[in-house]
Amino acid sequence: MISVAIDGPSGAGKSTVARRAAEALGYIYVDTGALYRSIGLFALLAGADCKNEDHLRKILPIIKLELKFVEGEQRVLLNGKDVSEDIRTPEASMAASDVSALPLVREYLLDLQRNMALSNNVIMDGRDIGTVILPEATVKIFLTASAEARAMRRYSELLAKNPSVTYEEVLNDINRRDEQDSGRSIAPLKPAKDAVILDSTMRNLDETVSLVIRTVCEKLSTLKE
Ligand code: C5P
Repeated sequence: MISVAIDGPSGAGKSTVARRAAEALGYIYVDTGALYRSIGLFALLAGADCKNEDHLRKILPIIKLELKFVEGEQRVLLNGKDVSEDIRTPEASMAASDVSALPLVREYLLDLQRNMALSNNVIMDGRDIGTVILPEATVKIFLTASAEARAMRRYSELLAKNPSVTYEEVLNDINRRDEQDSGRSIAPLKPAKDAVILDSTMRNLDETVSLVIRTVCEKLSTLKE
């Protein structure tokens, strides 16, 4: 099985790039952030403190998460309900970042993620795919961009849904999440030693997708030699 790990900070374009590259290569695209978001959403709805390990310890046993693929598109089911849309709010983003810093949450999601790569060719995006989840991934990519470029992209996306959102709010949010994701002691956001680092700051989506596909193909061709 071929596995491509794409890690990097929020807003670097990982999910769109990974989805399109997976489509072109005929692999399954696995968005692992959706799993942390679903746990965060559940915790929020349950009125739990997303940073509190004891709260999460009580919650995890009553959560069932499943990933389904409908025409190649990942759907995430939380206790049987499709929450793929509900997990995209700024509140769910922050809750995801909070719960993801807890070791028991990361442990809880480990097998689910690894199992996806056992029986499928996958492109999996996240923060620790190349370092922790799939340390033997065939190709490891760390996709990054400046905080300002990432905030501007997120801002344009959010503006369509919420006209009162400001660029400064989005930039602050990105900086806070970066700090939290990189500074945590467990599975911090950092490139794997053998990752190829790609910067999308000065590249548009098509260019970044092509670069990722080229990186994967080049690595696969060296393996065949
Ligand atoms: O990628 P996405 O923005 O959907 O992820 C939401 C949050 O989940 C991230 O800010 C990060 O804290 C956490 N996450 C993680 N490990 C992953 C994927 C996401 O810690 N593999």
